[in-house]
Amino acid sequence: MAFVLHKDENGAEKYGTFSIFPKGILVHAVSTRFGGVSKPPYDSMNLGMHVGDDAADVAENRRRLLGWLGLDFERLTTPEQVHGDKIVRVGEAEAGRGRLSYADSIPATDALMTDVPGVPLMLCFADCTPILLFDPVHRAAAIAHGGWKGTVRSVAAKTVHAMTEAFGTRPEECLAGIGPSIGSCCYEVGGDVAGKFREAFPQFADEIVSEQNGRIHLDLWKANRLQLEESGLMPHHIDEAGVCTACHARTFFSYRAEGPKTGRIAAVMAIK
Ligand SMILES: [Zn+2]
Repeated sequence: MAFVLHKDENGAEKYGTFSIFPKGILVHAVSTRFGGVSKPPYDSMNLGMHVGDDAADVAENRRRLLGWLGLDFERLTTPEQVHGDKIVRVGEAEAGRGRLSYADSIPATDALMTDVPGVPLMLCFADCTPILLFDPVHRAAAIAHGGWKGTVRSVAAKTVHAMTEAFGTRPEECLAGIGPSIGSCCYEVGGDVAGKFREAFPQFADEIVSEQNGRIHLDLWKANRLQLEESGLMPHHIDEAGVCTACHARTFFSYRAEGPKTGRIAAVMAIK
């Protein structure tokens, strides 16, 4: 298993893919900050409409990314992410929402799922953990937004459950990718956040909360992996990028490394 970055002809890393996902029936990617038109501090492939960047530039960036992947921009569907645990099933009625304006995005939603072919789902990230899910048997895909708030609310596990309800997904057949996001190396948290994780996940709290040089560090990759395993996913069906966005802020946007004025990378999935 691996997360591989694909380069353009000039050697710039355009986007990454997980080897765990089959190519023939699914298109997916996690973008980088390269290849777009946005100006600093959003340079250059900012895909978030809500961060103060020029909306026309963001739309152009979204068109470019979808073009690289051979996907239809007009069907691109994206939510207003609020660090919650609401999951929305995207069908024909929702297809295309939020592609051109934040106000039109699916409100207050932190995971999208679909089994409709040709409808690209997109969620945006700067340090928060992208969780990509694919059920190859029922041909259904989902993306969840796992910052600390979403993770402590078990948004990844709830998305697996929602896929089971909606599509008949059997967790043991479901594949997952945990995308580039802040690693425990750079993710220092306060005692209050650590306490919430200890309370929510007493069974594996010691694996996700650690002390390094007297500071508390949180491991969102492991918290999401263990959550998925508890939901019934097979450990060998979970691919982890293992890339810290704060350590690699030149390649990805990072809220921790760059502050609130920065862009957003995106995770995209579409059933073929
Ligand atoms: Zn790091």
